[in-house]
Order: sequence, then structure tokens, then C-alpha cells
Amino acid sequence: MATSLAFARVAPIPTHRTALAGGLAFLEGSASPAWGADDLRAWFTEHLIAPGCMATPLLVTEPSAGTVAFDTALPASARTLRLILVAARSRVLTALRDLTASPSDDRCLMGSIFAGRVSRERVQGSAGWVAHPEPTAPLSGIVLSLFAVDALSHRELYSDLASVCDTCHRLTFHEGGRRGCPEHPARVSGVYCKVDGGERA
Ligand SMILES: [Zn+2]
Repeated sequence: MATSLAFARVAPIPTHRTALAGGLAFLEGSASPAWGADDLRAWFTEHLIAPGCMATPLLVTEPSAGTVAFDTALPASARTLRLILVAARSRVLTALRDLTASPSDDRCLMGSIFAGRVSRERVQGSAGWVAHPEPTAPLSGIVLSLFAVDALSHRELYSDLASVCDTCHRLTFHEGGRRGCPEHPARVSGVYCKVDGGERA
């Protein structure tokens, strides 16, 4: 029964949620050891620079991991870049797990607002949240600004349907419970529990 519940009513991601698409593209790309400097530059260009969210950075940096040049003229150290991607991805996933937990911990949203990486602006006649991270921001902060725009714009989806899967680490929106995804249903409380006073509560 847990499986059918998890597969029920998976919320599709509308194409207009461009900030979410950018954040998800980073999580998907950075999961692969083959994702390199060219891929990261292409990601920045498509999701941040071309849409006007930020200027082209000189460096890509992540605390405790290192710093590499963004420019193609200065070839990045593949090892340092990998450390940066792994550390940034880990911080982003931790923040998303906190955000989608119950009760929710939305410090990553407040952090993006207070750092000035997202703000509410008038775009094409209507108010909405916009990302504009500073080019010197840590990579994780830049990625989280994209997720913050989406979460602040769709609070109810994050409080009701968002889940970060313990197995594949994807962020999905569905009714199958927290910490799972449509392919990896979360354990439903009670299914694996003994109720007769056994050792497993
Ligand atoms: Zn999964």
C-alpha cells in the first residue's frame, strides 16, 4: 500500500518554474563524476547569466573545498573542482532536507533573503521572487538562491509535497511522504513497527 500511495498524484514541475529547473539541473549534473568545468560553465550561463540573475563570476568557490577560475583561459584543477561540486551539492541537499522536513527549518530561505541573493521585485507587471546572487558567493549559496526563489514562490508545495529522497537524493513533489520519491517510497510510519510492546518502537 505504501507503494501505491507514493505513486499517487505526483505533482509535475511546470516549465515556468525556471529557478527550480536550474537548481535541479545542478543537483543532477553534480551527482556525476563526469560533470566538469565546461558543464558547470554551461550551467551558470543557462540558468543564471543569460537570464540576467548575475554577472559572470571570476571564480567558483566553496568553503572548505577550494576555489577555481571560471574563465576557460585558466584551466580549473579537476580535483579541486570535484571537491567544490561535492561540498556544494552536500550543503544544498542538507538545506533542502531541512526545508522539507516536518516541522520545516527554513533557515536557508532566510539566509538567501538576508544575504540579498533573492528579493521580491516587480517583473512584467507582477511581484515575484527573483534570484541575483553576487558573483563572489559560494557555489552552494548560488544554487540555494534558485531553490529559495521557487520555495518562496510556492510555499504550499514545499510544506505539503516536497521531499528529498534518502535513496537517490532527488527533490520531488508528491504525496508519498518525506524522504522518499516516486521510485523509492518512504517508509510509512507504522508499517515496520511492532505495536505489541516489542523492542522496535
Ligand atoms: Zn529516490
